[in-house]
Amino acid sequence: MSGTGARRIRVRVEGLVQGVGFRPFVCGLAGAHGVSGFVGNDPSGVFIEAEGEPSVLDAFTAGLTGQAPPLALVERVSVEPAEPVGGSGFRIVPSRHGELPGGALVSPDAGTCAACLRELRDPGDRRHRYPFANCTDCGPRFTIVTGVPYDRCATTMADFEMCAACAREYGDPGDRRFHAQPVCCPACGPALRALGADGRPAAGDPVEVAARWLEAGRVVAIKGLGGYHLAVLAADGPAVALLRARKRRESRPFAVLAPDAAAAGTLVHLDPAAERLLTGTPHPIVLAPRRRDAPVADAVAPGARDLGVMLPYTPLHHLLAERLAAPYVLTSGNLTDEPIAYRDEEALRRLAGVADGFLVHDRRIEAPADDSLVRVFRGRELVVRRSRGYAPAPVGMPWRFPRPVLACGAQLKNTFCVARGNQAFLSQHIGDLESYETLRSFAEGVEHFCRIFGVRPAVVAHDLHPEYLSTAYARDREGVDLIAVQHHHAHIASCLAEHGHGGPVIGVAFDGLGLGADGTLWGGELLVADLVSFTRAGHLEAVPMPGGAAAVRQPWRMAAAWLDRIHGDALPGLAVAERHREQWPAVVRMARAGLNSPLTSSAGRLFDAVAAIAGVRDVIGYEGQAAAELEARVDPGERGAYPARLIEGEPLVIAAGDLVGAAAEDVAAGVDAGRIAARFHRGLAAAVVRAVRVLGEGTGLRTVALSGGVFQNTVLLEAVASGLERERFQVLVHSRVPPGDGGIALGQAVVAAANDRL
Ligand SMILES: [Zn+2]
Ligand SMILES: [Zn+2]
Repeated sequence: MSGTGARRIRVRVEGLVQGVGFRPFVCGLAGAHGVSGFVGNDPSGVFIEAEGEPSVLDAFTAGLTGQAPPLALVERVSVEPAEPVGGSGFRIVPSRHGELPGGALVSPDAGTCAACLRELRDPGDRRHRYPFANCTDCGPRFTIVTGVPYDRCATTMADFEMCAACAREYGDPGDRRFHAQPVCCPACGPALRALGADGRPAAGDPVEVAARWLEAGRVVAIKGLGGYHLAVLAADGPAVALLRARKRRESRPFAVLAPDAAAAGTLVHLDPAAERLLTGTPHPIVLAPRRRDAPVADAVAPGARDLGVMLPYTPLHHLLAERLAAPYVLTSGNLTDEPIAYRDEEALRRLAGVADGFLVHDRRIEAPADDSLVRVFRGRELVVRRSRGYAPAPVGMPWRFPRPVLACGAQLKNTFCVARGNQAFLSQHIGDLESYETLRSFAEGVEHFCRIFGVRPAVVAHDLHPEYLSTAYARDREGVDLIAVQHHHAHIASCLAEHGHGGPVIGVAFDGLGLGADGTLWGGELLVADLVSFTRAGHLEAVPMPGGAAAVRQPWRMAAAWLDRIHGDALPGLAVAERHREQWPAVVRMARAGLNSPLTSSAGRLFDAVAAIAGVRDVIGYEGQAAAELEARVDPGERGAYPARLIEGEPLVIAAGDLVGAAAEDVAAGVDAGRIAARFHRGLAAAVVRAVRVLGEGTGLRTVALSGGVFQNTVLLEAVASGLERERFQVLVHSRVPPGDGGIALGQAVVAAANDRL
């Protein structure tokens, strides 16, 4: 094959190139160009030697980036000359294990592709109705990887020896399962079983057994890709109520799996962007406006305007959905506030008494991953919970991390982040670090990430809050440099990191609570920030939070604190005060005396107060519930907005009490909750825009970053963003990185690196 002008090159490809069919793709590309040589994996990516005419080698090298397979993310291709050796053909050579893990990336799990689905439905195919079919373009990845480099022996599929037929597909460069590590079939791969509540096998086809249980109103635990789910039929009100009761009075909305996009369209209003997200490779839960006549029980998502829907993303989910021909609830297999169960024995133990039956299999899950949750904002995805299908894809940066960083995240909705080179790996959703199980899941997750990405952290970033378990974990690490990052600075930095923007910007960080640099609880902050540092340029007016944590659980207490601030002694006789008249005076006294009543400028607590005053929600069952329900009530036709004064000074203060007072007056005048919710959202947004205008004039800055969990609220986000754009500010909003505390670890990591560079 080597002619007179033949050259040989040594190529390195870095990025997300393992487990995505990259080596077979290189073989195909080499064949198409008549190039000889070999390709293999090593711990830092893919290595290639290629020989051919110079022009042919150029085309081959260009194709490595330009024609890469759908799941690949090529970040760097480097080429160096080598001595021609002649020879013909192109082959895959064994992986090289001998080097230090440096840059190999593990791809996220991918939903079943169309070709695998066709086989699943084809009675003539040897994988007809096989629940574990997968290929180079789809199937489990991150959740089954035990180490690097990505090869079958470093996945939980190492437990299964390939049969001759699978081995042939695996070894055939022309086959779509060429080097697909989880390849398997009914003869050699994992098997499905249905188990009764007592753990004993149930006779019959497991999918059929589970379908009958569901049709009989039972709760079924289903082992999925990243853990166990609990399922009931979505239209079955008593079954949904039973599931809620058994999950210890869980009150969060449940997600619903619809058999296909057409069925999803009978549940929610899908715009083209939502439909694209629903059917895309990660297969997240998509939040979309619920149809009035949606065939789901009210108890699935009480009080919510939106419904979370997803499509089947494994063959097993497809088989069950096709058999039932009806949507089913699919919610994390856990009790309220615990992490998702994913190890078989533990799941059977923890879910005993919750599930009436189990649909299980013998492919081990190495890393747990909850379903991801996304909304649509201006036709783009707004990731609310970034987990299965997204993690652990890297967030690329225009900057380098001088030393490897571990960022431990916050307390609620925790994720962590490990970073090296110019890549940051944000973990899957861990959960609220408030129990031993969640903390263990966090610590195991950190170890797993450090192993599969070859990171030994030299710098460890954590929140300022000394009582967060993530902070305690950071301080227990020995031989590292610790960097404490203020919560809202980390939020703004996470938004800057997603955009590759180094600042300075005006950052609006609105969330529940985070410890401020002055020791009070912040949450309605206007920062002038870059990646290194920030100044608190403005904030929402602060009020006492009577009872501390009790005020978080009971939004009516925030109403009491605000109304007392506005009206003083005079109890306004509002419905909210009447509903709580027995405790109201004591709560007011507590706030005035500052007894267990920390001051807070939190935007989340402001939403709580207005939600309680408007009669939407007095007591919550999960974080952010009152704000979510207030958003859901917004009357889109309302054009009014409550006024709020700006109190000049350093920092600038937004007189949030004006908004609360106006809402209370509207309640007294009999205005409905929908109009109150709209006037509050529009008034708060207008006040933020005016405050930013003042700060822009003072600093000359023209770019604004919006972050914090309150900006999951797309009504507020749209009002603030469009208001700022009318003032000709450039506005940075989140898309792939959550605005809430699930994104904060990324911000901590880049702030730590920026300070490490100094
Ligand atoms: Zn496939
Ligand atoms: Zn097989």
